Amino acid sequence: MKKLFFMLSTLFLLAGCNSGTKAGTEEQSAQDTPFEYIADQFADVEILRYQVPGFEDLSLQQKELIYYLSEAALEGRDILYDQHNKYNLTIRRTLEGIYENYFGDKTTEDFKNFETYLKRVWMANGIHHHYSEDKMIPEFSKEYFAQLINSVDPARMPVKDGASASKLIETLTPILFDPAVMPKRINQTAGVDLVQTSAVNFYEGVTEKEVDAFYNKMKDPNDNTPISYGLNSKLVKENGVVTEQVYKIGGMYSPALERVVKWLEKAANVAENDNQKQVILSLIDFYKTGSLKKYDDYSVLWVKDLDSRIDFVNGFTETYTDPLGMKGTWESIVNFKDMEATKRTEIISNNAQWFEDNSPVDKQFKKEEVKGVSAKVINVAMLGGDCYPSTPIGINLPNANWIRRDYGSKSVTIQNITDAYNNASLGNGFAEEFMWSDEEVKLAKDYGSLTGNLHTDLHECLGHGSGKLLPGVDSDALKAYGSPIEETRADLFGLYYLGDPKLVELGLLPNSDAYKAQYYSYLMNGAMTQLTRIQPGKDVEQAHMRNRQLIATWILEHARESKAVEMKQRDGKTFIVINDYEKVRDLFGELLAEIQRIKSTGDFEAGKKLIETYAVKVNRPIHEEVLERYEALSLSPYRGFVNPVYKLVKNDKGEVIDVTVSYDEDYVKQHLRYSNQSTALPNIN
Ligand code: ZN
Repeated sequence: MKKLFFMLSTLFLLAGCNSGTKAGTEEQSAQDTPFEYIADQFADVEILRYQVPGFEDLSLQQKELIYYLSEAALEGRDILYDQHNKYNLTIRRTLEGIYENYFGDKTTEDFKNFETYLKRVWMANGIHHHYSEDKMIPEFSKEYFAQLINSVDPARMPVKDGASASKLIETLTPILFDPAVMPKRINQTAGVDLVQTSAVNFYEGVTEKEVDAFYNKMKDPNDNTPISYGLNSKLVKENGVVTEQVYKIGGMYSPALERVVKWLEKAANVAENDNQKQVILSLIDFYKTGSLKKYDDYSVLWVKDLDSRIDFVNGFTETYTDPLGMKGTWESIVNFKDMEATKRTEIISNNAQWFEDNSPVDKQFKKEEVKGVSAKVINVAMLGGDCYPSTPIGINLPNANWIRRDYGSKSVTIQNITDAYNNASLGNGFAEEFMWSDEEVKLAKDYGSLTGNLHTDLHECLGHGSGKLLPGVDSDALKAYGSPIEETRADLFGLYYLGDPKLVELGLLPNSDAYKAQYYSYLMNGAMTQLTRIQPGKDVEQAHMRNRQLIATWILEHARESKAVEMKQRDGKTFIVINDYEKVRDLFGELLAEIQRIKSTGDFEAGKKLIETYAVKVNRPIHEEVLERYEALSLSPYRGFVNPVYKLVKNDKGEVIDVTVSYDEDYVKQHLRYSNQSTALPNIN
C-alpha cells in the first residue's frame, strides 16, 4: 500500500523514451519543438517538467474541475513546510526576501551558494533533505547570511513590527548553521525519545511517553472500524495539560484550509457527477469540523467513486514523516484517467487465465481460476504539498486498514511522470554512457517507455495475483525474505511474458523486437546502475533493489556458459552485453519456476539462500565505477518536478470559456509565485 516513489534505482525499470510510438500520445508529435523536460539542476537534484497528455481533449467542465482542484492543491503548500519544522516558513520567507530584494553582487560564489541553498529548501519543503532527512548545512558562512539580511529592507523580511533584523539573525543562525541543532527531521534511533529528538512540528513540550499515553487512552481495541487518531493535529502541553491542536477551519492552519475549501467549493459545483460532488462536499465537511469520523466517511465515498474520469488526493494523508507514524502530512494530487493506457491494462486482465495457464511454473503451483486486477493508469495534472517537488509514480489509498478491508483501495500508475523520467534520461547522456552500443540506445528510445510501462502493468495486474500456496503453507513462511521474493516473482512474471509473441498478438507490442529494450535496461539497472543509490561500503537493503539485483546477478551467473548475457569491458568501463535474448527469456522462466516453488511450498532456507547469495552484497569495483561514471556525467541521484500552469480564459461577460495549460515556467519563478499567491499562514504556527 501507500506510495511508490520513483527513485533513481528504478530509473531503468521503466527505461527509455516515449517517442510517440504509442497510441494516445499524439500531442507530442504535434509540437513543433521538442518538449524541454529538464528545468533545473542543483546540488544532488535535477528538476523536470511533465506533460499532461489529453488535457486539451477534456470537456470544458472537466478542465474547470481540474483548475479548481489544482488551485486547492497549491494552497496547502505552507502547511507542509510548517509540519516539517516550526521555523521553516520563517526561514523560507527570509531566504526569498533576500533573493528578491538583495541588490548587491549576485555573481559571487557566496551568492551562488545562497541560491543553491534556497533551491534545496524548496525541493525539501524545509531545511531537512527530502530523502535522507538530515539537515542541509548551507555552503555560505553565517557572516555572509547576516550581511545579506542586513542589506535588505526589513519590510521585505518576515519580522513582526518592532522586531529587528538582528533578532532574526540571532534566531535563525543556529538553526541553519549549527549541525547539532535539529539535525534530523525524523529520528529513528532506538532508545532515545523520538518525539523530542525529531525536528518535525507535530509535537511540542511533550515526551514520547506522554504522546503514547494520550492516544492509548483513546483507542478501543475492540473497535472494528477504528478512527485514525492523531492524524490531523499537533500535540502540545499547555499549562501542564497535554492537548491536541486540530488542523481545521477555526483551528490550526485555518487560514490555509479556508483557501483550500474555497477552491473545493468551486470544484463541487463543476463535479462530473453527483457521487463525485458528494466526495468533495464530504472533504469540505472534514476540513470544517476536523472530525476524523468525517474523514473516514469521506475516504469511503472517495474509494467508491470509480466512474469519474478526474480524481484527486487532498488532505493529511501519509504518516511517514511522524516518528510515531500517526500525524499525516498534507498532500495533493489532481489527475485524470488515461483511457488508452487503461485499455492496455484491461486487455491484460481479460487474458489473465491464458497467462496463468501458460506460465513456466509447475502445474501444482498454478491457480485453476485467476482474476486479473484492472489497475487504472492516470496522468497527473497538478502536484501539491508532500507530492511536490518530489513525486510518487503510483498511489494506493486510502491508508485506513478497515476501509481497505471493507471497501477496497484505489491503485494507480502515474504514466506522465514515468514518461518524463524516461525521456529526461535519454537527454542527459545516461543511455550513451551505460549502454553497450547504438543498438541498445535506439531500442530504449523506440520502445523503452512502452515496455517499461507494460512491465509494470504485468507486474501489478498479473504477477502478484498469480500462483498459489500449497495447502497448509503459512503465507508468512518466508519471513523477512518474503517481501523481496514476492517482488522478484512479480517482476519475473512480467519479464517472462514481455518476450512472449502473445503480446504482439494482443496488440500490446508493435513487433517482436520491442521487448528487448526492457530486458536490456532491466539487467543493466539490476547489475549496475541502481548502485548509484548505495553509499560506498554499504550493502543493498531496500526490497525492490534486492529483487532487481537478485534477478540480474542470477541471470548473469546462469548465462555464463552459454554467453547469452555477459559483462564486457571497453576503455576501462564495464557494460552489459546481451547476445541471445531468447535464451535470457528462458532463464527468466527458469528462475520464475524456482521462485514460485519457494513461495508455494514456503521453502524458507531456499529463499534465504537466493537472497543472501545474489541480492545483498554489492560488487565493490562495479559500485565504485558506477559512482565515478555518474559523477563524471553530473547525473543527479534525486529528481523533482515543476508543475504546468493553468489559466482560465473568460469571455467579456466573465464566463469561463476555456482553460489553457502551459509548461514554460521555471523552477525559481514557480516557487516564488507559489510563495506569493498561496501564503496565508503566519511565520510561526
Ligand atoms: Zn510489486
